[in-house]
Amino acid sequence: MSQVRVRFAPSPTGFLHIGGVRTALFNWLFARQQKGVFVLRIEDTDQDRSTDESIQAILEGLKWVGLDWDEGPFRQTERIDLYRSYAMQLLEKGQAYWCSCKAEELEARRKEAEAKGLSPKYDSRCRDRGLANLAGDAALRFKAPLEGETVVDDLIKGKIVFDNNVQDDLIILRSNGYPTYNFSVVVDDALMNITHVIRGDDHLTNTPRQVPIFQALGFPVPQFGHLPMILGSDKARLSKRHGATSIMAYKDMGYLPDAMVNYLVRLGWSHGDQELFTRQELIEKFAWKNVQTSPAVFNPEKLIWVNAEYIKISPPDQVAQALVPLLESAGLAAEAKAVSAGWLAQLVILVKERAKTLVEMVEWVRPYFGQAVAFDEEAAKKFLTPAIAPVLGKLLARFEAFPAFSKQQWEEAFKQLVEAEGMKMGQLAQPVRVALTGRTASPGLFEVMEVLGRDRTLFRLRQGIDRASRA
Ligand code: GLU
Repeated sequence: MSQVRVRFAPSPTGFLHIGGVRTALFNWLFARQQKGVFVLRIEDTDQDRSTDESIQAILEGLKWVGLDWDEGPFRQTERIDLYRSYAMQLLEKGQAYWCSCKAEELEARRKEAEAKGLSPKYDSRCRDRGLANLAGDAALRFKAPLEGETVVDDLIKGKIVFDNNVQDDLIILRSNGYPTYNFSVVVDDALMNITHVIRGDDHLTNTPRQVPIFQALGFPVPQFGHLPMILGSDKARLSKRHGATSIMAYKDMGYLPDAMVNYLVRLGWSHGDQELFTRQELIEKFAWKNVQTSPAVFNPEKLIWVNAEYIKISPPDQVAQALVPLLESAGLAAEAKAVSAGWLAQLVILVKERAKTLVEMVEWVRPYFGQAVAFDEEAAKKFLTPAIAPVLGKLLARFEAFPAFSKQQWEEAFKQLVEAEGMKMGQLAQPVRVALTGRTASPGLFEVMEVLGRDRTLFRLRQGIDRASRA
């Protein structure tokens, strides 16, 4: 069998939608599994709606989730002459014809047909007129087959039979000389030797239009696979109404790219009841037969769960790296810059069990930057009281006696003091926690001290004592 070649062919008319990422992902997984080629093609022939910003957003989004392409990005607007030359071939072979019907006439006839309960398709008026495009304002139409069937053996949906007689004579070149989607896509898929066309099933109706064009041009017809749509909880197609749909919005909301990939692949594909997969596992286990045929429902709670798992299981330095842009947008740019990557990774380990998103993580790590602590007023009022000040002073003295931080020694010293004072652990732990972090909730106290280090721990204890004695 020839080498697998697949493509992702987005139209750059907005941000990169998570549904698009899922389509790209299935193509990419198949390409990687089959040691094939993943082509990126930008379908920008709709000049009114395509923008360069959108192209950038597509590239940025794919890079963020780590879906690397082997060829491209190709831009269809750079290939217009190519489409025209193939259109002319069809004209010469008698498989296309010039049509001089004007938009208003077509519209009027369509309405008339509909009123009579007839098919609204183009009435093929110009099909046999042998018109030339003398004025240069005619559209070129494909002579679609009038009878027979187009059979598609879909990788996901199985065998689908389409009646040819319902198909329009599609416009392949508009009167402005620009190719239409259904034509340029065929020329490109053919010239790029695409073996499998995997796309959303919103394109299923295009497939019986495209197959006869492949055939008319004498190209082999690729295999098709149509992915079921992603729906919102109300079973309507996923849209802004259901929340963010741009992949980069999820970056900003604190999701890890690997979590997005894991979540999106499970929207429509399964492997037993396994939920979490490494990328390598996905490449190995991916199979078309396990892609579901019914639409998948987007579930934000499950996405959060997957993200929380990824925060826990991903290498801490990787999480730390992903955290940096969020620290920056939370006003901690200078702080993030001042610390080492290794320390940031340590910080991630400290809080990773508590944060379900990196945005939450920013709030968990906030107290650990800088020398001084910012007190939560209520916490300080409640726990940093004049009565506790001398006990904190004794703790400080005990800690100061150690030349370096040692979790074991400091913990022992802490326990001994609690005993000597006849206190309960919590009675000292909470004030110390507020002194060190400014808050009443934190990870384990001695883990906190370890991350802060000896000097900062002592500094903050002094700060807490000061606050307590002035209360
Ligand atoms: N450009 C089309 C889109 O963005 C996809 C075409 C295809 O995959 O065949 O929907």
